[in-house]
Amino acid sequence: MQDDAVMRFESCGTRVYRIRSQVLPHLVGYVYLLLGNFPPTLIDTGSGEGFSTTDILNGFEQVRTKFGEQFNPQQLERILITHAHIDHAGGASSLSAFLEAEIWIHIYDSRIVAAYEERVAVANISFQRFLTNAGIEREQRSAIIREFGFVKGRCSSTSVARLLRDGDTFDGINVHHVPGHCAGQLCFELQPFLFVGDLILQKTVAQIWPQSLASNAGLINQLASLDKIVKLTSGKQFIALPGHEDIIQNVTERIETVKRTHARRLERVEKYISQSPKPITIAELAKKMYANLPLNRNLLALADVGAYVEYLQQNAVIRVANYEDFEQLQEPIFRYARV
Ligand SMILES: [Zn+2]
Ligand SMILES: [Zn+2]
Repeated sequence: MQDDAVMRFESCGTRVYRIRSQVLPHLVGYVYLLLGNFPPTLIDTGSGEGFSTTDILNGFEQVRTKFGEQFNPQQLERILITHAHIDHAGGASSLSAFLEAEIWIHIYDSRIVAAYEERVAVANISFQRFLTNAGIEREQRSAIIREFGFVKGRCSSTSVARLLRDGDTFDGINVHHVPGHCAGQLCFELQPFLFVGDLILQKTVAQIWPQSLASNAGLINQLASLDKIVKLTSGKQFIALPGHEDIIQNVTERIETVKRTHARRLERVEKYISQSPKPITIAELAKKMYANLPLNRNLLALADVGAYVEYLQQNAVIRVANYEDFEQLQEPIFRYARV
């Protein structure tokens, strides 16, 4: 295992072990093992693909051998899921083969874990509609969805033992619902630790999904979620432990930077729409924002631009200029202009 495979944090008797897991071929993720005066708890599951589950099990072993904990993975009572993206929840079923732990997750994301095939089928209809409205040609749509990889058979469904909601509290852990990146995104607060999933990352700005693709996600919710965490952490010393990248020492400062990035991107999208000689589609905007993307990044880029467009529309900055054509069209393409 790599040297940084397991990292330890401690405060007032609570020990937190950050375990590195290769969640996707080009993506490293972290799960967190919490030990202390409460039932042993794991946060997130990795993807269940490649070496992800093995990395986590090896990490448990290191917690015993390298850090001297009397920890037996069979004692693990529960796995709290920050959100149901594959790199955080995809490993739930493969870990269940080794562990007895219950899965706890926000109610909005619970069906992705408990009924994966249903979610894929329903989501693919939304993806098709979104790509159609975005101006992507029919032949390209299925390829874009397939390359994105939210496909049948990729995950096995796993039963969920407890549905979490904003404000839940157990064993000193407070649950905060912070939708935007994902509908059921949660932060788990166990002072001075804040497990933030993908709400904020140390270097990159987390992907935002438009509400048209993922209800309860969207930039409007993400900005409210960021403000909620600023309120929670202001005047207190928190260490934010995210699902990827480094730990975040100054949560408020990082959130201010993330908000400035969103504001800049919104300005860019607005500028392209204002300067376009005719009303413009999301696909055309995505080409301007992200030139030469590989196919497997296409849906992410379109969703990202879609989230900014949606926000500008929700805030009465832009409008759908060609709505009068919709009645004659089976597959309407939305073209945007300034209000
Ligand atoms: Zn995510
Ligand atoms: Zn992630």
